[in-house]
Amino acid sequence: MSVLPIITWPDVRLQTECAAVEAIGPEIEQLVGDMFETMYTAPGRGLAASQVGVMRRLFVMDATWKEGDMNPLVCINPSIVPLSDARSTNEEACLSIVGVSADVSRPNEIELSYTGLNGKRVTAVIEGFAAVCAQHEMDHLDGRVIFDHLGAPERAALEAKYKEII
Ligand SMILES: [Zn+2]
Repeated sequence: MSVLPIITWPDVRLQTECAAVEAIGPEIEQLVGDMFETMYTAPGRGLAASQVGVMRRLFVMDATWKEGDMNPLVCINPSIVPLSDARSTNEEACLSIVGVSADVSRPNEIELSYTGLNGKRVTAVIEGFAAVCAQHEMDHLDGRVIFDHLGAPERAALEAKYKEII
């Protein structure tokens, strides 16, 4: 396994929708191993394939490892259905937008469906920080980032702050 370079905003690939993973084989297995290595090293709680320049619908996450509880999850061709009208706002950071964070509002509870590395389709109801993490990574697969959740003035201010940092 190796640590891959993480591409950063405003790279156009972070604004581009990813295509479905068509077959799960050695290449995808290798990519997933490298993505976990990259995510844990960063260190982060989630990483989408597009963040390492692979334009496929795949992300890895581990919402709890920083608290000492490892829960690695591989989501291939994921889909998300919001289950609650209730939303919460969390301060979200992104490995591709280093140095700034944004308050992002999202549904509290979601149904997450995905194919695992074993090829089996799984559907799970998740909430709390794991739901935030999954929705953030899902956004990447659709070419969306934290900036896209902000109103125009907030976005302009945060992008200006980011550009000063990089
Ligand atoms: Zn991100």
